Amino acid sequence: MPETMRAARYHGPGQPLRIESVPVPAAGDHDALVRVRAAGVCHTELHFLSGLLNLGIAPLTLGHEIAGEVAEVGSHVRNVRPGDRVLAYYYQGCGSCRWCLRAEENLCDNLRAEHGFITDGGYAEYVRVAGRNCLKLPDTLGFEEAATLGCSATTAIHSAKSIAGIRQGETAVVYGVGGIGYALVQLCKLSGADVIAVGRSEERLARAKDLGADATVRAAKDDVVAEVMRLTEGRGADVVFELVGVAETMANAVAMLAKRGRLVLIGYSEDPFTASTVLLVIKEAVVMASVGNTLAEMKEALDLAGRGKLKAVLGGTYPLEEANRALDDLKAGRIVGRAVLLP
Ligand SMILES: [Zn+2]
Ligand SMILES: [Zn+2]
Repeated sequence: MPETMRAARYHGPGQPLRIESVPVPAAGDHDALVRVRAAGVCHTELHFLSGLLNLGIAPLTLGHEIAGEVAEVGSHVRNVRPGDRVLAYYYQGCGSCRWCLRAEENLCDNLRAEHGFITDGGYAEYVRVAGRNCLKLPDTLGFEEAATLGCSATTAIHSAKSIAGIRQGETAVVYGVGGIGYALVQLCKLSGADVIAVGRSEERLARAKDLGADATVRAAKDDVVAEVMRLTEGRGADVVFELVGVAETMANAVAMLAKRGRLVLIGYSEDPFTASTVLLVIKEAVVMASVGNTLAEMKEALDLAGRGKLKAVLGGTYPLEEANRALDDLKAGRIVGRAVLLP
């Protein structure tokens, strides 16, 4: 095992990531050391760089979508061994709070680790994760596709099933067609719902159609609310997944809800959420929010992807050294789907 490795490190808001040489972490008794082969590039990293998400921890290796090969395991690790191809789950809960007892580690009151958020993540050659957080990849899945499931598809499973409880016959609007949006389109179709995808770019919407969206609405061109009302024959959408989180999209999302419609907030920005109480009350609308995912949901994402039911949309690959270029491309909207770094 080498003593040092390359990592793309965050040093606080307003600064680009720096490629540095840092020590290779040592695996404890319950840990695995994973040689990272692909790490997904998520909007979360842009929120770190802008300062919108500031957990006050720096320097830090970002990256929470981590696929790689197990290099070493601690003496108590039984579920994986060196050489196994794995996807690493990024939350390590305390194991004893009321959320961890329900296996809802994403809400843990006292996280031991959250890779790429409060502890070092996958923008490096190696990452140390808890052994139990390593899930073996199906043979059919490569590292690059697998990495994109770590947050995007798994977060989509959480919001579609655990939060929204999407049902057959409902109409869902996927408002924003990035990594999570593409997975939501597919999951809603698998649940028997009709899906309307809303996005700015023709190219991205075409991809949503390929993945099963029944209709698409071009945000830059169409009156989004009027289009959704027309497509639903005036009823509105039973579920709106809001992946953008700016004032305009949030207002549209509320306006397009059906009676008893559920609004699921996933994307966020500096903009506050404001809505007409009258509009919400007369519809008996439900406003929900969704953050992250559970280990069980990651297992489900891998199973679905392994069986070809959930397709990863790989938006390009970048060497680790070009992490900042990948983030610039994401910010500028030049990436369709999910890009990955190859450390
Ligand atoms: Zn906990
Ligand atoms: Zn993410």
